[in-house]
Amino acid sequence: MELLEERIRRDGVVKPGNVLKVDSFLNHQMDVDLFNEMGKEFKRRFAGCPINKILTIEASGIGIACIVAQHFHVPVVFAKKAKSINLDGEMYCTKIQSFTHKKIYDVIVAKKFLSPEDHILIIDDFLANGCAVDGLIDLIRSAGAVIEGVGIAVEKGFQRGGDIIRNKGIRLESLAIIESMDDQTGEIVFRS
Ligand code: 5GP
Repeated sequence: MELLEERIRRDGVVKPGNVLKVDSFLNHQMDVDLFNEMGKEFKRRFAGCPINKILTIEASGIGIACIVAQHFHVPVVFAKKAKSINLDGEMYCTKIQSFTHKKIYDVIVAKKFLSPEDHILIIDDFLANGCAVDGLIDLIRSAGAVIEGVGIAVEKGFQRGGDIIRNKGIRLESLAIIESMDDQTGEIVFRS
């Protein structure tokens, strides 16, 4: 998606450790007009899919997911990072390793918000090693719901997440795929 690539080129900052900082428009300050264009594009790409719910993970996926959901006219559920798990059978639980914080989180969704009737689109801001999306897939499978696909704003194509998701036979649509980035020169190359 040209608009997103242009914005990443203009305002993205490449940090050491394969981290792209996009906090001026994507995950701290948020450009809602840009999110709206992203929502339109996801709707175009997933047209005809019987999506009735969007699933994301807190925190940075929520803003994007909400604007995307306006184009699908469906609710958003976000998986919560739980400090302590109340194993009372009311929650689906999984563990996710955080790319940015290197910690392992317990992640939960209330059972009442995911069911076998659901057709889910997963939305997140970044795809790196695929841990976040893999955890969301696990929650959806626990619920017996259908995964219609995964929509990502920025996929770092040089990390393994994209292959992991595609190899599961799950449809993955990323609006910008970074082929390489260099924290010395700041150069970012996109997959065409
Ligand atoms: P994964 O689980 O695919 O390894 O990483 C995805 C999660 O880590 C995303 O939800 C995102 O919040 C965070 N993340 C991964 N790579 C980056 C990055 O380069 N920049 C930022 N800002 N967040 C990232």
